[in-house]
Amino acid sequence: MAVSTKNEKRPRIGVVALQGDYAAHLQAIEVAGGDAFPVRTAEDVAGADGLILPGGESTTIGRLMARYGLDTAISEAARQGTPIFGTCAGMILLASRIARGEKQGGQPTLGLMDIGVARNAFGRQVDSFEANIDAPCVTDAPASGQHAEPVRGVFIRAPYIEESGPEVDILARFEDKVVLARQGNLLASAFHPELTGDTRVHRYFLRMIGTSSAEDKNGDE
Ligand code: GLN
Repeated sequence: MAVSTKNEKRPRIGVVALQGDYAAHLQAIEVAGGDAFPVRTAEDVAGADGLILPGGESTTIGRLMARYGLDTAISEAARQGTPIFGTCAGMILLASRIARGEKQGGQPTLGLMDIGVARNAFGRQVDSFEANIDAPCVTDAPASGQHAEPVRGVFIRAPYIEESGPEVDILARFEDKVVLARQGNLLASAFHPELTGDTRVHRYFLRMIGTSSAEDKNGDE
């Protein structure tokens, strides 16, 4: 069941629905207080207050986005300030550089965020795992000075951010690896907040709508 936000228009969030776990994001956005819809065409992009690039297989999603003209439509929306949230494969698609693990034949990305991403970067023995992530930006009451429960991070053959430019705010690390970061209207997570039933990261993303100049980031750096 969706939770209603009183007296507020629910933002319309388009979830790129070509491949991957977009259905979980559609559900998480509804619970978090947005109206979610699948995005498959450039026209769909135009109707969105915010966009999500889901987890899945980044090379496949990137190629399909190019085939359907979503790459230019999403890049244009990003330039106009539309908040965009990329999770896992979606984070790779936001990146301007693939630092490691690039597929032979090249890795299509939108090149929007000033980050270098290592693909499949946590090593074979821990291809998939869960870990608590301390992400101060997603506590419900950051002003209280109290630390909320950590976020449960689900990592599935996950990438991490190996290096980033000065405009990028680091929002969370796992061990020493950057797994959540923001650059203005762009948000990227290495893990899958849509799979846990905890919608704090999605609510943080919804708060970026209308405040996409990064003043709401409350990051640790
Ligand atoms: N390893 C995948 C890729 O590089 C991403 C995995 C995921 O989204 N869960 O596309």
